[in-house]
Amino acid sequence: MMTEFNTLAELMAQAAERKLPPYELVIRREMETRAVSRAAVWSAMQKNWRVMQAAMAKGLRSEERSLSGLTGGDAKRIFSRRQQGFLGEAALTAAARAVAVSEVNAAMGRIVACPTAGSCGIVPAVLQTAAEQRGSHEDEIVAALFMAAGIGMVVEQNACIAGAAGGCQAECGTAAGMAAGALVQLAGGAPPVICEGVALAMKNLLGLACDPVAGLVEVPCVKRNGFVAVHAMVAADMALAGVCSVIPVDEVIGAMQEIGRLMPAALRETAAGGLAVTPTAQAAARRIFGKSSCS
Ligand code: SF4
Repeated sequence: MMTEFNTLAELMAQAAERKLPPYELVIRREMETRAVSRAAVWSAMQKNWRVMQAAMAKGLRSEERSLSGLTGGDAKRIFSRRQQGFLGEAALTAAARAVAVSEVNAAMGRIVACPTAGSCGIVPAVLQTAAEQRGSHEDEIVAALFMAAGIGMVVEQNACIAGAAGGCQAECGTAAGMAAGALVQLAGGAPPVICEGVALAMKNLLGLACDPVAGLVEVPCVKRNGFVAVHAMVAADMALAGVCSVIPVDEVIGAMQEIGRLMPAALRETAAGGLAVTPTAQAAARRIFGKSSCS
């Protein structure tokens, strides 16, 4: 029996029918698609996790600025405040880690696009932080990453994961859903609770514009990764507390696709609207490229 699922409802129903955890179906689909062994699929994800960990560590140490000079060094600053902040230590640590990975990306370092380079910090940051809180084994983290991958696959199949197609709701919004679902799984939440976490996380980022300054994946992207990591943690905690989304997750994904379709091109990674056309952003674009970013 080939493993196929187009929606999260289908994934969860198949998992129940086959008496398997949903992430196992994601692994099986990958094995069937690529005609490789389970060990090969697992090991590839394990390698991804190690790249993510290296990026978090590097970004937290670094004060390096990006080539444009727009970003760099903020992860270290946020991390230094983790014990004095308004938020608890875990939330600020996750925010710092998400910014760290995003700063590594902005400085042309090695990251895992998860689901995209612009949103690369969110999933690793929440998983590393939650795993430390819970003392999770690496295998549990890798399994949670497969759950995140399955959520991303469903969004990609039914909507989009690129800012150019659907605005930042498609990039950071999808990453938030992937991160929330992965966290719920790590905490032992049942498949319907995973779906609630994804729905709550994605629903509350619907409509988010993609308006990067100078067309670079730096402003607002880098700090947004930090904010969205905390957002995903809140969504996971809400779901685990029994909070439900009135709109089911697959309908939220459908709404995201519809909003992306209605969104003007100026707010879809063209740097022709929003923050990108503010006087400060235009001046930055002239300094970096010698011209306006939207000319
Ligand atoms: S603002 Fe645009 S470029 Fe930046 S992370 Fe969001 S979708 Fe990606």
